[in-house]
Amino acid sequence: MSKIGFIGLGIMGKPMARNLVKAGYELVVYDVNAAPMAELVETGKAEAAASPAEVAAKCDITLIMVPNSPHVKAAVLGANGAIEGAAPGKLVVDMSSIDPMVSREVGKALEAKGIFFMDAPVSGGEPKAIDGTLSFMVGGRQEDFDRAEPILKCMGASVVRCGDIGAGNVTKLANQIVVALNIAAVSEAMVLATKAGVDPELVYKAIRGGLAGSTVMDAKVPLALARKFNPGFRINLHIKDLANAISVGHEVGVPLPLTAQIMETMQALRVDGMGDLDHGAIIRHYEKLAQVEVKKQG
Ligand code: NAD
Repeated sequence: MSKIGFIGLGIMGKPMARNLVKAGYELVVYDVNAAPMAELVETGKAEAAASPAEVAAKCDITLIMVPNSPHVKAAVLGANGAIEGAAPGKLVVDMSSIDPMVSREVGKALEAKGIFFMDAPVSGGEPKAIDGTLSFMVGGRQEDFDRAEPILKCMGASVVRCGDIGAGNVTKLANQIVVALNIAAVSEAMVLATKAGVDPELVYKAIRGGLAGSTVMDAKVPLALARKFNPGFRINLHIKDLANAISVGHEVGVPLPLTAQIMETMQALRVDGMGDLDHGAIIRHYEKLAQVEVKKQG
């Protein structure tokens, strides 16, 4: 069995790589930061590479999990990038959430060298990365999807091909719009309940099973009640996704008024020093407007 390449071992990449090791794969790993590489090497099932080119030279399939478009371009097309090491016929799968137009650009550059590419961003966050229950949304050729699916299934509960290259990241942008606005709506509602004198925990218990209930509500309200805002998914990364959504919206002619509004709320939180907190901290914006704190009572 050929080794799997894994580039980018951050909050998401490290537990995802660990799940591949648990499933019996051997890895060749690379990160610009040496510490997480050393942790993977300690498992005895991973070898550290000196560059993305070395990873791609040693592996038939190379996975990438870095922050944004420029990091993907650097890892694939930059000096010592995967494109320099990969032979024709190899497959690069980018699991980062990036601008779909950049996915297409990277896919074209690789295609010119006979290297296959897919975009396969995920939703689910760190807890699901650890459990191996992420949702993958994939863009690429069916043949490449069939080749990568067993590997992605070691890290995810759901793996869906949404179309050709770029379709995975378009789907992810749709996901990020829904998540951001859902957090905002839940936050505004909990702030109202609290200031109107009703225990927000009881409001949550009463409404979570009805139409208002959501995965977002179940994930974020208990954390807000416990005043836990450590990431998770950083506001700064969500700003990156909304910027990509607005940019694609403008490019294809889709106004995104609600997205623009929550984007500015997140900008305000960043200015207020909260960019590195979890996006659940959106509630702190609404708390500030109303001068009230949503927390566990009694
Ligand atoms: P992170 O910042 O924790 O990790 C990114 C890792 O990539 C870091 O270890 C960094 O050193 C490394 N890196 C950066 N540039 C590199 C390069 N050129 N070559 C090699 N390594 C490089 O970010 P994360 O939270 O793991 O997120 C990764 C991606 O997953 C992002 O696109 C994010 O939007 C997406 N995502 C995150 C979550 C979440 O909850 N954190 C959920 C779903 C999707």
